[in-house]
Amino acid sequence: MSFIRLKYNIVGDPAVGKTNLVLRFTADSYKEAHEATIGVDFGFKQVTVNDQAFKLQIWDTPGEEKFCCCGSRLYYRGSSCIFFVYDITSKESYERIPYWIEQVTTIGNFGPSGADDCPVFVLIGNKSDLAVNREVSFEQAKKFADKHNMIFTETSAKSSCNVEEVFESTAACVYEKA
Ligand code: GDP
Ligand code: MG
Repeated sequence: MSFIRLKYNIVGDPAVGKTNLVLRFTADSYKEAHEATIGVDFGFKQVTVNDQAFKLQIWDTPGEEKFCCCGSRLYYRGSSCIFFVYDITSKESYERIPYWIEQVTTIGNFGPSGADDCPVFVLIGNKSDLAVNREVSFEQAKKFADKHNMIFTETSAKSSCNVEEVFESTAACVYEKA
């Protein structure tokens, strides 16, 4: 069986949990301390979804412009999907999602979300284990995602909730779209 290689890019504000989502998915681990990623970090994992094998290459970003490589078109070249991550306990991080969509679309020179030449856009509300401190409702984010042709889910890198699921269902979605 031959592998399909997919490139994932993860963007969003600092401290929303991008690096921990990658760590949880690729290594089933988690880090309490927040360290700014410098430049770009990579994660790799092989998965099989619906009898199709995939090799996922995941590009993590700092989210802080001073360290940022996400201003480069190369960063998004050949991307199959983009994860736009916010923290459900931070309205501010959610309100920055339109900025990230604008950045990625402009820099990557992609058509609108849903177009053939555009990677699959996925909206992720992370830290679902902290739902008691929630500042962004599930319904509000789902509505935004539907309007922008994005897949939507809430995850917890800490408890593992939905992490594997979102990486795998996105692979299936990219595959179906191709
Ligand atoms: P990044 O800057 O977006 O890469 O964020 P990090 O992955 O470095 O995480 C930032 C902080 O949030 C760290 O202290 C993490 O331990 C914490 N964090 C990340 N994901 C979760 C989560 O799902 N739940 C909770 N409660 N904390 C999280
Ligand atoms: Mg990081």
